[in-house]
Amino acid sequence: MSGCIFCKIINKEIPKEFRFESDAVVAFDDISPSADVHILIVPKKHIREVGEVGDQDAELLIEVYKTVNKLVKANNLENNSYRVVVNGGFAQHVPHLHFHLLGGQWKKYV
Ligand code: 5GP
Ligand code: ZN
Repeated sequence: MSGCIFCKIINKEIPKEFRFESDAVVAFDDISPSADVHILIVPKKHIREVGEVGDQDAELLIEVYKTVNKLVKANNLENNSYRVVVNGGFAQHVPHLHFHLLGGQWKKYV
């Protein structure tokens, strides 16, 4: 969607190193990390927020969590602490659905 910062990153209009990319999902480091490891897992499809997820997105959500699992392993977080956070309402600042993977020491609230 035009004007969406995450769509621009996904479409490579803004250069960004991806930690993972598939046909449906990208993952990249948060610009302002809230934890030792802070990776955003972002569906390529522009879904505004969790309330817009529908039955048609079931496979996409499975891929998101499989990506989380890959990143947990790649960052040796299995035997550390990690959380997956999805913000909504006034707590969500970028209006393109995304999942925060926060690993290790938590520094601030996302
Ligand atoms: P939200 O509050 O929407 O759940 O989280 C948005 C997240 O996106 C924040 O943690 C913020 O630091 C991150 N963010 C905002 N703009 C950019 C950007 O241009 N690049 C990257 N890598 N992260 C961004
Ligand atoms: Zn978007």
